[in-house]
Amino acid sequence: KLYNQVQDLKGNIRVYCRVRPFLPGQSNLSTVGHIDDGSITILTPPKYGKEGHKSFTFNKVFGPFATQEEVFSDTQPLIRSVLDGYNVCIFAYGQTGAGKTYTMSGPKVLTEQSFGVNYRALNDLFHISKERKDTFCYEISVQMIEIYNEQVRDLLASDGPHKRLDIRNSSQTGFAVPDANSVPVTSTTEVIELMDIGQKNRAVSATSMNDRSSRSHSCLTIHVQGRELASGVVVRGCMHLVDLAGSERVNKSEVKGDRLKEAQHINKSLAALGDVISALAQKSSHIPYRNSKLTQLLQDSLGGQAKTLMFVHISPEVDAVSETLSTLKFAERVA
Ligand code: ADP
Ligand code: MG
Repeated sequence: KLYNQVQDLKGNIRVYCRVRPFLPGQSNLSTVGHIDDGSITILTPPKYGKEGHKSFTFNKVFGPFATQEEVFSDTQPLIRSVLDGYNVCIFAYGQTGAGKTYTMSGPKVLTEQSFGVNYRALNDLFHISKERKDTFCYEISVQMIEIYNEQVRDLLASDGPHKRLDIRNSSQTGFAVPDANSVPVTSTTEVIELMDIGQKNRAVSATSMNDRSSRSHSCLTIHVQGRELASGVVVRGCMHLVDLAGSERVNKSEVKGDRLKEAQHINKSLAALGDVISALAQKSSHIPYRNSKLTQLLQDSLGGQAKTLMFVHISPEVDAVSETLSTLKFAERVA
């Protein structure tokens, strides 16, 4: 309740920044200066262009030692609101290698401590729905799709992610991908199995798995339907958890053919997302949802009563400083 009041004051868009720790073997020359709860300072050494430092302000900044649990605990109120019938979008934005998949799914080898937002969100939904079982009956189902080159594919299709799917709008469901497999879930164990299938399907359609996964957006959609037992009234909420394609700029003189096409699609769709969120933040009368598949799909979950959380990820390495600055500028625009 408190969170909803805060949201009313601040609008429905929040931006959190997360700094990845150095990875084993990386030289420890850091571009991250001061971090506090809500701001971060980036230092640019002379060799990387203009020397100096620049500070950015966000709703929250997580330093390199923040645990998955700490990151999630600030996300939790959003999860609850899905059970109350709100739509929620959570995005992971940043250059490839900055930690998007780590935040959303966790590392390759999962332990209970390292579970990402996706698992924790579903786990919470199961928990809270059980707590409310005397007053509500909830049904929870998940879909997993990817958007690659502006085409939507089903990562949970039993015969592999080969078919292109359409985004449709209906009065019943709003904007959705009705032909993507929708799987009812009741436990985190089931969810872990499904995400495994999704990951494998992502690999099936890939030329090289790592490459592909950083050049498509993947979206885990959770539909929640709750019926109040006394009144029979039904509430529907929906949550999209989106691991975005890498935001790094591609040098047009260096790539051709398929890679160039991919890069253009990614640029276009990330720009479209930025345009939508900043139009919402500025309470603009025209919100340009139609400029990409991603923003079309998320139309009902961006704006209006819906709640949006963007995690922007940065790498601490000094070599990444120009991408880091462009990531933070993007984030500043939507914050
Ligand atoms: P992205 O999805 O943005 O390309 P990843 O999530 O795959 O990046 O992260 C790149 C590497 O860094 C992976 O090996 C991942 O496990 C590791 N990593 C990312 N964030 C963290 C973190 N907060 N703590 C520990 N390791 C991390
Ligand atoms: Mg990734």
